[in-house]
Amino acid sequence: MKLTLKKSIGLAVAASILLCELLAVAWAADTNLSGQTTGTLLSSPTVTNGNPLLLQIDTRKFNPPIASMKIVFQQRDFSIYPHPVNPDGYRFGLIGIPFRSVPGPAELTLKWTNATGDHSKTIPFEIVAGKYRTDVLKVDPARVNPSKKNIKRAKKEARKVKQTNTDGSLAGLWEGAFQLPMTSEITSPFGNKRLFNGQLKSYHNGVDFRARIGTPVSAANSGVVKTAENLFYSGNVVIIDHGNMIFTIYAHLSKIEVNVGQQIEKGQQIGLTGASGRVSGPHLHWGVKINGAAVNPMQFIKVMASLIRAQE
Ligand SMILES: [Zn+2]
Repeated sequence: MKLTLKKSIGLAVAASILLCELLAVAWAADTNLSGQTTGTLLSSPTVTNGNPLLLQIDTRKFNPPIASMKIVFQQRDFSIYPHPVNPDGYRFGLIGIPFRSVPGPAELTLKWTNATGDHSKTIPFEIVAGKYRTDVLKVDPARVNPSKKNIKRAKKEARKVKQTNTDGSLAGLWEGAFQLPMTSEITSPFGNKRLFNGQLKSYHNGVDFRARIGTPVSAANSGVVKTAENLFYSGNVVIIDHGNMIFTIYAHLSKIEVNVGQQIEKGQQIGLTGASGRVSGPHLHWGVKINGAAVNPMQFIKVMASLIRAQE
């Protein structure tokens, strides 16, 4: 089983190596490609709604030296972090492009201060509409049209989870490539629009893995457990804070094997798959959030792999 896991990571890494080769060219030539600005490098000039966008910054290209720096996107501030590979010369910012974004031209604004005052630079990019499918699901009507009591419970839980996913460690707690939480067939990809008993309720903000009840689930990377409890929709849930405002969520577990505040190593077993919460059968739901925005976990793995390999 370990071998298969390595194989799937290998594929993700292989894809990212190709991307890295392209990135290396862009860095070396220091060209103003479409969507690129001198000293900055976007993971892509176009990004699908629900995907992550990575901005790498070569701080040596900024004179006088930067005192402080941030990214502004859709009126929200995003932190800049030390680069995991070359923290002296480079920094990075990571943004989840919300699923409900309107396709079309968009921009990030890089704002920084130095000895000569405040400065800003606009970095344009394009949001393209993902080709997401529509899933029709049949589940227990009590979970589609929950009682007033359960609606109240679910709303309270949603507020708490939202708070959790925007209140994490700014420092990076992760190390090296992110990995899948289990090796199995993906039965539902990210982004599918969901019709529950004919009603459009939501979009799928993670990926589902086929799993019999009781299959081990492992942490995608190192971090700290932020949530380990039963929620109305997600069932038994673990949320891990990986730092840099990156969170991973593991839902519908039959058993939680970690506690809030516990430090977790990459690959550590955190629980067992199950069918708790709103499900049509046993599976693992795995999600990734960046600053509270759900992103496609498979694209997230690729983008993070490009970050850790770009400077090698
Ligand atoms: Zn799911």
